[in-house]
Amino acid sequence: MTKARGPVLHSGIDVPEPSREPWAALQQALLADDPACQGDVRFTSDDLTAADVAELGVVCVSCPLYRECRAFADSVPYWASWAGLWAGLRLGKNTRADYRRRDREAVPA
Ligand code: SF4
Repeated sequence: MTKARGPVLHSGIDVPEPSREPWAALQQALLADDPACQGDVRFTSDDLTAADVAELGVVCVSCPLYRECRAFADSVPYWASWAGLWAGLRLGKNTRADYRRRDREAVPA
């Protein structure tokens, strides 16, 4: 099964139900704007340090797609095998406890 490793336009990806709507919104936003991380392979790395995540998070905050990207990242359940850095949230390297903490700390939109 194909998984996106970063916020780029994709078709034919099997997105799990909790993330389908945010994924569609992100795909729609990508038609209008380019992500600030475009072409930056660090966003798809599995070997980011905490310092890397903090540095790249600054790029995300200035990105025109931050809201849609973060909504998608926040929707990804712990059992989905997505990877990469999405709106400052590292997916794929988190433990179940990390996801539970994220869900507890999520601020309603
Ligand atoms: S918020 Fe960050 S990861 Fe998401 S599209 Fe923008 S730069 Fe890329």
